[in-house]
Amino acid sequence: MTRIENYIAGEAKPVEAYAPSFNPYNQETIAEYPLSGAADVDNAVASANRALRDWRRLSFSQRGEYLDRIASEIEKRSETIAQAITLSGGKPISEARFDVLDSIDCYRYYAKLARAQDAQQNTLVETEADDLSSRTRREPVGVVALITPWNFPTVTTSWKLAPALAAGCAVVLKPSEITPLPESYLAEICAAVELPAGVVNITYGAGETGAELVRHPDVRKVSFTGSTETGGRIATAVAADIKNLSLELGGKSSIIVCEDADLELATSAVIGGIFFNNGQICSATSRLLVHESIAPALLERLAAEVAGMKPSDPSAEDSVLGPLACRAQFDKVSSYLEVAKEEGLNALTGGNAHAHPSCKLMIEPTIYTDVPASSRLWNEEIFGPVLCCRTFSSDEEAIREANNCEYGLAATIISSDEARADNLAFELEAGHIWINTDQRVLAETSWGGMKKSGIGRELGPWGLAAFTEIKHITKPSGV
Ligand code: NAD
Repeated sequence: MTRIENYIAGEAKPVEAYAPSFNPYNQETIAEYPLSGAADVDNAVASANRALRDWRRLSFSQRGEYLDRIASEIEKRSETIAQAITLSGGKPISEARFDVLDSIDCYRYYAKLARAQDAQQNTLVETEADDLSSRTRREPVGVVALITPWNFPTVTTSWKLAPALAAGCAVVLKPSEITPLPESYLAEICAAVELPAGVVNITYGAGETGAELVRHPDVRKVSFTGSTETGGRIATAVAADIKNLSLELGGKSSIIVCEDADLELATSAVIGGIFFNNGQICSATSRLLVHESIAPALLERLAAEVAGMKPSDPSAEDSVLGPLACRAQFDKVSSYLEVAKEEGLNALTGGNAHAHPSCKLMIEPTIYTDVPASSRLWNEEIFGPVLCCRTFSSDEEAIREANNCEYGLAATIISSDEARADNLAFELEAGHIWINTDQRVLAETSWGGMKKSGIGRELGPWGLAAFTEIKHITKPSGV
């Protein structure tokens, strides 16, 4: 069995205790990972601090070279990493391969963006004071803690690690305890590209390890992706020390289908928006708002589509739904199916665990119709293959219903009227909106949410800015 080790100062570092990592499809142990304690975290932060001194002095372009090489090393291991994603998180292999490509794109994008930064260092700022010259520089925040969830291992890591390294930060990464295996390849990749020892450190473990990292006095920034509940705990933990913080949190996103929508496009957007990765996506459009005049036609198409979707072995090439990622996640989603029964919700499809001969962690793709706005299923993040539907009769009503939500991560609009869709997009409280397209996220665009979905933005130049501080240098002109 694979034993994963922490990666500190460029070396594998054993710890005192390890925990098993399971394949959710067959419950076999696939690896064991370190349960890092306070001393391990302290070593990792100290190693990052030492490495920071030289790393921050390299130019953006020099650091960008490393990112290009990391992308190439991931590329060489694409299939191995994709298989590890599927083994550890139950994601269909075809989706896992997309994840690896996305992460490669992200490292390449930040390599390119880094190369463009050097020309923008020491930018002259026009002021009214003729006797003074004033310039700005972007400098790294320092040692940063990157804490990630299990639903997109390697992708979420790349969204943080690539800009952090480009900015000149030294990092300690704490991957999710559910999916340590795909992240374990990062150590050999850092070694292969001869990244200076200590620039990237990895400490594995559960929430306690993350909490140690967050409160370490030498950690200047925490970049966290995970649940709103944990994000709140982290915000409280860093408040007294005024640490820099980025939070990418939960969601309960709407897909609005207008009466002028192309029904085929709408069907595919609704299905992809909730059943991709088994609904375990922060931006899953788990609330369908459909115009009352086309609701029967759309629901008929959705039911027909779902009838052809059966959970299966996620390593099978044709698998579209696997198991949920772990027992706790299965239990959480199952508990919502029980609530739905108590609330008397109307299940158009599914509503139960899926009976599979060898896997006990599967859920039938589920659609509830006419869900009351007061329902827990309409309001809470389920993070599973469960869609809730309501109808609307005017755009104002659709906007009101969609915005009546504590989250604000994403939304999709399906309408053939461009002006109408643009107006809906303007009114919706969400960080990312797709109109008449699937949920593609490109490295050049921003990612992040409003309200309880988070603070700050990842990806694009915003993602790089999140790992930098602006330094202003003013001196007498001509000096
Ligand atoms: P989680 O909050 O349980 O865990 C996330 C990470 O935080 C894990 O690595 C965990 O070990 C660590 N952690 C737990 N307690 C901690 C603490 N007190 N201090 C520091 N670290 C701690 O979330 P999860 O179940 O792994 O992921 C699912 C959640 O993530 C969903 O709510 C989903 O919406 C959200 N998510 C958001 C985005 C986004 O971009 N907004 C992307 C992916 C997932």
